[in-house]
Amino acid sequence: MSFKSILSTILVFAFSVSAAAEIRETNFMADAFADATPGDVIVLDIDNTILEPAQTLGSDQWFGYLLSKFKKSGLDENAAIDKAIREWTQVQEVTSVRLVERTTPALIRDLQENKIMVIALTARPVDLKRATARQLHSAGINFQDRNVVYTNNKDIELFQGILFVGPKNNKGTVLQHYLQTRKIHPKRLIFVDDKEKHVKNMDAVFTPTGLTNINFRYSAADARVKAFNAALVDVQWEYFQKLGGVLITDEEAERIAVDRRQHLSEFMPLPIHPSHFRTAH
Ligand SMILES: [Mg+2]
Repeated sequence: MSFKSILSTILVFAFSVSAAAEIRETNFMADAFADATPGDVIVLDIDNTILEPAQTLGSDQWFGYLLSKFKKSGLDENAAIDKAIREWTQVQEVTSVRLVERTTPALIRDLQENKIMVIALTARPVDLKRATARQLHSAGINFQDRNVVYTNNKDIELFQGILFVGPKNNKGTVLQHYLQTRKIHPKRLIFVDDKEKHVKNMDAVFTPTGLTNINFRYSAADARVKAFNAALVDVQWEYFQKLGGVLITDEEAERIAVDRRQHLSEFMPLPIHPSHFRTAH
């Protein structure tokens, strides 16, 4: 091999490595899909990317709050995750959801009509596969990959085009294994997730492979994550438990929390009245 060809090999390699790695931040799902063409594979997170629950109870930020509360109480990481997931799961089974960005379902359908593969990749537990598909359907979203068993890890499953990774696995590693096992060779990988951790993991896994991967840190739900109100969600969780799965709105919970603060010195529990509730469906 001549010096010139070695040099050009190094240059091509250096160029392909630098071209392969990219993390971008966006507030708009349309940015992530803007130049997608057939052969690309689009991978979307669900919570705080496509959907959020209709109230703070059940949100990803509530899960984060539970996790840190349980860790502070002395549980180790794994035990805290298990406990937080058990509570979070109960709410997912009954909550209604809303879109983080209203245009997302139409954007996904456009990709699908253009024969561009779109799947969801979620840290939700497999136990929630039916509830998750139901939530997505209620928002007008259907992912299309067949249900195939491609792993013997019981925490990981593909169901209705949704790849369930579970709360303890690396999304990048699981996606790489999925693509290899299914013999899917994307022209480019486009990944959208609100969590920086997942975006960085994806970049770290795929960049060394030379596959062009564009990873979007999606920020449309950031304001609500930042405005998380622990007193409000504690009231919602209390009502949910005491009344067998009843979900009260953020407005109702906030009013109850404020009323309680004002009555605190008198030790007056707020009477529970049916007008405070909205039934889940
Ligand atoms: Mg998320």
